Amino acid sequence: MAKISAPVKKNDVLTGTVMDLTYQAMGVVKVNEHYPIFIGNALPGEEIKYVVTKANKNYAFGRLLEFITTSPDRVSQDNSVYLQTGIAPLAHLSYPAQLKFKQEQIKSLFQKDKLDLEVKPTLAAPAPLHYRNKAQIPVRQIDGWLQTGFYRQHSHQLVPMTDFMIQDPKIDATVEAVRDILRELHVSAYNEEHNSGVIRHIMVRRAHKTGQQMVVLVSRQRRLPQEDTIVAQISELPEVTSIIVNYNPKATNVILGAQERPVFGESYIEDELLGKKFRISAQSFYQVNPEQTENLYQTAIELADLQPDEVVIDAYSGIGTIGISIADHVKQVREIEIVPEAIADAKINAKLNHVTNIDFTVGKAEEILPEWVEKDQAMDVLIVDPPRKGLQPEFIEAVLKAKPKKLVYISCNPATLARDLRLLIDGGYIGTTTQPVDMFPMSNHIESVTALTLA
Ligand code: SAH
Repeated sequence: MAKISAPVKKNDVLTGTVMDLTYQAMGVVKVNEHYPIFIGNALPGEEIKYVVTKANKNYAFGRLLEFITTSPDRVSQDNSVYLQTGIAPLAHLSYPAQLKFKQEQIKSLFQKDKLDLEVKPTLAAPAPLHYRNKAQIPVRQIDGWLQTGFYRQHSHQLVPMTDFMIQDPKIDATVEAVRDILRELHVSAYNEEHNSGVIRHIMVRRAHKTGQQMVVLVSRQRRLPQEDTIVAQISELPEVTSIIVNYNPKATNVILGAQERPVFGESYIEDELLGKKFRISAQSFYQVNPEQTENLYQTAIELADLQPDEVVIDAYSGIGTIGISIADHVKQVREIEIVPEAIADAKINAKLNHVTNIDFTVGKAEEILPEWVEKDQAMDVLIVDPPRKGLQPEFIEAVLKAKPKKLVYISCNPATLARDLRLLIDGGYIGTTTQPVDMFPMSNHIESVTALTLA
């Protein structure tokens, strides 16, 4: 059989028109119907000159050389650092076009699975920049200086920066101030190659409503050199109410180690969502866009049309934010979450808000729900908010057996959402609309809420 060769080869310089933008925010040029070339920083409609950097049998990658025409949706980047790091992969696309892009991504996945749901226009975030309430900043030694910044795309090479574009500027200021304290005291930065040096990451969390900030110093050593001085100086920074030393001695990409030690203030910060208080520890999952989280939850609450006599299951509950926010409106809330520490936080959060009609179960949702269904336990509304991999087949099977009359699916991955909706709808549910909610402006992540009812 003749070897099928690629229609382009490495180092070819070509021109073309960008037809599409992938989920990963790569522009797509096609040399023929079946052969796409993926090119970063290229937008649909643009005519570009590019060089082929890698040619596979069925597709290729290219690097943009020059724009022949540009898209009206392009936002010029005055700071090319962002493009190098991938910190904000959609920053070259205007915000309205980003919202449209996210809606279209869901629509096309639904079309592939023949799902007949209306995908509403994406709910814009109140602030498309400077929204993140959490930063995990790598620390490295560059030319003798301890630097903070972000990794160059697809690498662990640090690009120093102080304005992180999508983070709360008060967090950026804290990171910079901590960097300066560490520099002044000649504390060494982590060296990945030799697994040597001390400070690996600076993590900062800020509670948007209360302003409390937590600084986590991720260290290769159990105890920091001059720890008392470092802690005393960081504790003087504005809003810092909690400092934690996290011990991570391993040669690993995982940022946080398992052991941590509060060295100043409490081991948590406290924030508010929809009028309820939440305690957040260093390791807890907490939505990163606090203002838009309230809109996300509000959307889910409205779509669930909650009634005072209903029993609601909040599966994949994290520290209990959704369940606690809705408890006043229903008879009982039952939370399922796999991380024991998150459930410990959720229990404290329930107490903090005087919520008593709530119970907590630690375990895998795909194991707990089938047990409950087996026991014929009451469930009127099921709210799910799974990680990117979506729902497990055993979980869906249990849902189709118990048939709660309402199901609200909060999704951070439209591909697994489409897969799961297909199964739920084939199993007897009706879905009419999906509401995308932009939780991650400037990034390609897509969050949405879908309500299902029984046919
Ligand atoms: N609803 C929460 C958390 C959503 S993140 C909020 O809005 O803050 C998804 C959560 O699912 C995480 O807390 C994660 O620990 C949990 N999780 C992941 N896999 C799980 C599983 N198989 N069963 C139960 N919970 C799981």
